[in-house]
Amino acid sequence: MSPLAKSETIRTITTHYIDGAFVESHGREVIDIVRPTDGQVIARVTLADEEDTRRAIAAARRAFATYSRSTPDERARVLRRLHAAASARLDDLTAAMVEEYGGVVRFAGIIVETGINAFLAAEKALQEMPWTRTWDKTTVTLEPVGVAGLITAWNANALFICLKLASAVAAGCTVVLKPSELSSLQTQVLIEALHEAELPPGLLNVVAGRGDVVGAELVRNPDVDKISFTGSVGVGESIMRDGAATMKRVTLELGGKSPTIVLDDANLDQAIPAALGMAFLNSGQACAAGTRLLVPRSRLDSIESTIRDAMRDFTVGDPADPKVAVGPMISQKQYERVQSYIRKGIEEGAQVLVGGEGRPEGLEAGFFVKPTVFVNVKNDMTIAQEEIFGPVLSVIAYDTEDEAIRIANDSRYGLHASVIGTDLERARRVASQLRAGRVVINGMKDDPQAPWGGFKYSGVGREYGRYGIEAFVETRAILES
Ligand code: NAD
Repeated sequence: MSPLAKSETIRTITTHYIDGAFVESHGREVIDIVRPTDGQVIARVTLADEEDTRRAIAAARRAFATYSRSTPDERARVLRRLHAAASARLDDLTAAMVEEYGGVVRFAGIIVETGINAFLAAEKALQEMPWTRTWDKTTVTLEPVGVAGLITAWNANALFICLKLASAVAAGCTVVLKPSELSSLQTQVLIEALHEAELPPGLLNVVAGRGDVVGAELVRNPDVDKISFTGSVGVGESIMRDGAATMKRVTLELGGKSPTIVLDDANLDQAIPAALGMAFLNSGQACAAGTRLLVPRSRLDSIESTIRDAMRDFTVGDPADPKVAVGPMISQKQYERVQSYIRKGIEEGAQVLVGGEGRPEGLEAGFFVKPTVFVNVKNDMTIAQEEIFGPVLSVIAYDTEDEAIRIANDSRYGLHASVIGTDLERARRVASQLRAGRVVINGMKDDPQAPWGGFKYSGVGREYGRYGIEAFVETRAILES
């Protein structure tokens, strides 16, 4: 048996989670969930329609009448219960991400754990927030914005759901979640887990369905006050436009084309593996992936040979194998998208240093691509400007520090950036000039209290910690004369 072959039981999901219970779908459309390692159907899922969505919104609206009046302490208890319930299924959640999404197990566990920890991070932020401030005869309170529609992408399902849910619940909002239909198995495990938290009915509702059906209903329905979205720029634009008709508050977490600047004093044996790790994060299907590597031209030769050596550690294969660094793409469509960008890079004159078109040897069945590094890339090439969402890295040479900063900022995106160098003061100086929502120095770092979100086309608003909760509140001032 091939190491990738798995049991062939096809699971079925026919329910949505509405008003505290799993209820049969009103929608009748059924889709197949396909395992990315071998293209086999592993589940059939009945999708929600507008009617399911409206039922979920009505349940959230009813629950809001009570939950919006909860105290911060009561909400802190809800967050602790959610954390305990999700923690109990950590291993199942990781396994589902490996199977359904093809996430490499050594990273999937981190993603899931970060999601689960978001409940405690939100609790900490909630305890520190000034829910009521009074001066003279004025009192300002933070009030929940209302029913929140949460719409998520497929590449880190548990993380997005937990993160958005934690912030919304901390603020006193009730929720209708529309996860990506490509993450149905992962969502099912997570919602089964969260059901054990025994939340008030209607606080959390989940309707899995198409974006242009369920997502569109959430965006247009006047009983939804806020949309928090993670996904592509195109859909983000439509949410902002269509949401305007009902004056929706929106948070948009969109794409990226993140630069990693290697300064000329960097230790290459540390800098290059770190930079490749950021480029191939979550098999390159990561909004934060550092897909533009900016390197000093004076050290280009040694950088290219260090990349070639370091790439041996970025093995592609069965995502369940802890030694594997890059798994398959999620779907045939995503596989073809990555291939088309690799072809485009070659046509526009970039040179393949490692990887290239086609499937890696021995991995012909699934949606595997070759982790690819391009050199001789100019920043105005398509592969340096557009988000590929796969393991494709563009190496771009610069002559001066100012030029590196200019190239880094010469992008319509501004989500994440990275600076690697030995002189910390200099690295900080460079970091402070980058137009990105998060900049890391000397390697990937996360902080659940630090804001997450983008400048420019990378989005609107912030998530994580206090900043994430603030996205779900309105301020109300009461003034006495
Ligand atoms: P997508 O925009 O196609 O879909 C995202 C979600 O929106 C899905 O649930 C989808 O069903 C829904 N949707 C689609 N059409 C809709 C509509 N008309 N109205 C409402 N909802 C609709 O994105 P994707 O392919 O799932 O995810 C990949 C994208 O997500 C990439 O661009 C990536 O950069 C971005 N992303 C951003 C972040 C971040 O934190 N900034 C994180 C992960 C992914």
